[in-house]
Amino acid sequence: MPVHSWLASPTQTRAVLDQHGLATKHHLGQNFLINDVIIGKILDLAQIGDSDVVFEIGPGIGTLTVAMLPLAGAVVAVEADRGLEPVLAETCAQDSERFALVMGDALRVTPEQLTQAVESLGIEGLSPAPAKLVSNLPYQVAATVVLGTFQNQPSVDRAVVMVQAEVADRMAACPGTKEYGAYTAKLRLYARETGRFEVGPGNFMPPPHVDSSVIRLDRCPMANPLSGAPLSENEAMRCAQVIDAAFAQRRKTIRNSMSAKGFDKKALDEAFASCKIDPRARAEALSPEDFVRLAFALGWE
Ligand code: SAM
Repeated sequence: MPVHSWLASPTQTRAVLDQHGLATKHHLGQNFLINDVIIGKILDLAQIGDSDVVFEIGPGIGTLTVAMLPLAGAVVAVEADRGLEPVLAETCAQDSERFALVMGDALRVTPEQLTQAVESLGIEGLSPAPAKLVSNLPYQVAATVVLGTFQNQPSVDRAVVMVQAEVADRMAACPGTKEYGAYTAKLRLYARETGRFEVGPGNFMPPPHVDSSVIRLDRCPMANPLSGAPLSENEAMRCAQVIDAAFAQRRKTIRNSMSAKGFDKKALDEAFASCKIDPRARAEALSPEDFVRLAFALGWE
């Protein structure tokens, strides 16, 4: 069996942490992968090509990073823990010419920072904008960064991410289920699930208290119902506003929930009638397609 990551074992992970006098930090969601089989399965789903810039959030000690670097055009990683900077300099040294590290909070990093970091590597012919997000994500920020990446980084066409199993359920939930909510419908404006596998707590150091899943999402923007073209950025934002208003008071009817959020009742009634949507329905009964049709029927004020 080929080894993908020499760091993906309890012994190596412990040795690297000890060597740098580090302990794992719970508040940063530091549960490091220690099973190379899981790394192999992530790579199988991600299908990284040598012209791809891979965006990694939370490289940790570099366990997944060292497996991706030989396959990718470059890896640009964002890590919040400054103490890991010297560790990554060592563990990723072999492919350092293709590794760009941005220290900071993934929730604050801008697409420009990422492309600048890749450009600074000076790799000729490489398009610097990330094509794929591949990460074992810190669970506290996982849902937010995945949606934010699809919203704000149009170059990213695939995400293969380790998240809490519950979050993966929400990402791919069907209307009418308890997992389905505003988050599901908003993410579906941009992407859909194309793969998933489960990962038990024993595959991490230290083991988390929750089950995890690796989910693959491929960019697959929903269509403008009038033109059939993929939703533009503004159209998707408007649809997201409608989704948020409809789910704002989940127990109320969509009519009441949306009017409480400032939508005019007369305009709502006309839009519900033209879309053949029952105004007494609850938001969780509406599909993402229903929300898009509703947003277009309501128009842009
Ligand atoms: N990729 C490594 C692995 O698979 O073993 C580590 C994954 S660990 C689950 C999450 C990593 O995200 C940690 O290294 C942690 O320091 C980092 N992290 C936590 N919050 C972050 C944030 N807001 N922005 C960037 N990195 C963050």
